Amino acid sequence: MSTVRREPAGQAAAGADAPVLSCAGVRKRFGSTEVLAGFDLDVAEHEVVVLIGASGSGKSTLLRCVNLLEDVDDGTIHLDGEHITDPRINPDRVRQRIGLVFQSYNLFPHLSVLDNVTLAPRRVHRVVRAQAEERAMAWLSRVGLADKAREYPDRLSGGQQQRVAIVRALVNSPRLLLLDEVTSALDPELVGEVLTMVRDLKSDGMTMLLATHEMGFAKQVADRVCFLSEGRILEQGTPAEVLGDPQQPRTRQFLQRII
Ligand code: ADP
Ligand code: MG
Repeated sequence: MSTVRREPAGQAAAGADAPVLSCAGVRKRFGSTEVLAGFDLDVAEHEVVVLIGASGSGKSTLLRCVNLLEDVDDGTIHLDGEHITDPRINPDRVRQRIGLVFQSYNLFPHLSVLDNVTLAPRRVHRVVRAQAEERAMAWLSRVGLADKAREYPDRLSGGQQQRVAIVRALVNSPRLLLLDEVTSALDPELVGEVLTMVRDLKSDGMTMLLATHEMGFAKQVADRVCFLSEGRILEQGTPAEVLGDPQQPRTRQFLQRII
């Protein structure tokens, strides 16, 4: 029933400086591979943290652990001071406070844009349909997709579909938005519209943790860039520091290869 809290009275007492997300000593192993090897990361309110690193460096695994799609082997994750990797926690309740968007938009092809966006609030939160639709329409209008509300996903461009997927993650008013390579599946000319949307969310103060292999994306939205290697953050700092003047040979190597 009760949840273990590190802070005496949860988010209220945690203060303005308390991180929204706090990962401490997180370990995750698949078979003989330790993908996260004592991973530490705090994300402050309104902060945008971008994870970069070679394919297989654990970016997606970390995001999945934060959203409780993977169990951690060791360490703790706190959301607003609440210990969410406590085995007694209800994962659905945690996921209601976290939005997650994947590379592949995963929209339901047989549902209209509006139904795709309102499915979660209607099913999970039992909010009345009209209220859910109103909120969804407000978001769709804001991102210029109101006229697509009754369309099916296959009538939309990839960029529009991904924006709908992000709207779907936003209708619950999440505390934290996780974005995993959200521009990777898009044709280059469609990347811009998704990027603009993420930039707008940042201006609104949305707290975000995202993984990308697009350094341009990282440069434009990140308050902090973290380079992952061997299951930990090897180097972190502002985009100018990490991308412009990397200190670690491995970071340099990675950036030379990718750019
Ligand atoms: P990234 O997102 O940085 O490319 P991932 O987190 O997807 O990296 O993967 C990290 C490593 O974990 C890879 O070696 C991958 O093969 C492995 N891995 C991820 N998910 C699973 C899984 N469900 N089962 C087994 N191995 C996995
Ligand atoms: Mg990945």
